[in-house]
Amino acid sequence: MPQTLLALNWKMNKTPTEAAAWAKRLQEELPPSSAGLAVMVPHTALSLVASEMYGSSAYLGAQDLSQHESGAYTGETSAAMLKDIGVKYVIVGHSERREYHLETDQIVNAKAKKALEHGLVPIVCVGEKLEVRERGEHVEFTVKSLRASLEGIKISQSNELVIAYEPVWAIGTGKTATSADAEEMAQALRGVLEQLYPEHSSEMVIQYGGSVKPDNIEEICSQPNVNGALVGGASLVLESVFALLEALG
Ligand code: PEP
Repeated sequence: MPQTLLALNWKMNKTPTEAAAWAKRLQEELPPSSAGLAVMVPHTALSLVASEMYGSSAYLGAQDLSQHESGAYTGETSAAMLKDIGVKYVIVGHSERREYHLETDQIVNAKAKKALEHGLVPIVCVGEKLEVRERGEHVEFTVKSLRASLEGIKISQSNELVIAYEPVWAIGTGKTATSADAEEMAQALRGVLEQLYPEHSSEMVIQYGGSVKPDNIEEICSQPNVNGALVGGASLVLESVFALLEALG
């Protein structure tokens, strides 16, 4: 079983000043935990948070990267830039990027490849919308999306790649999937990993994300195929993060 990974997705919240103050307190007060912790901060705050968290056991993460290497891509941030700041994890294919920036599985795939090329660990997000679940096609849809997002991706160690199952209808809505829903999908996604990475699949992290809170994280993450959580709303306030870590033990 891999180590549980808690990843905090701040989304478009916190100025660099606010982020630095948060990270300073994290550095000073982070309790020991069996879970790994990654903080996915806005690009504007990465450098400051990197300095404040220096020496901490928490990892620095970004919320997106460019699929391109460098050059004429105004407004984009490259994998090399993130790596240089000290970023370890990067979210790719979050449903908000898929929805508002029209990111397809093919773009997600290109971004994941670019991250890996530069030694970053992509957290590849997949998940269905409510109408897909209501049609009973959620497993088929999400498995297909994961396969396309991982097309041609090779890894040499289990910790080079993380998968996050995030049902779109559960993100920021307060509606959490049941632990049985999370496990059903995580098991199906583990099946994809077994086919693609037979030597590594059992040690790879599959997270669940969608309205995870201190009072539901333990049950969700105790499912056999769920090895952590990607948390949005409950990640902004430090006390809530400490409660999430405490619940994970
Ligand atoms: C997310 O942004 O990935 C997420 C899961 O958000 P929330 O925890 O707020 O549902």
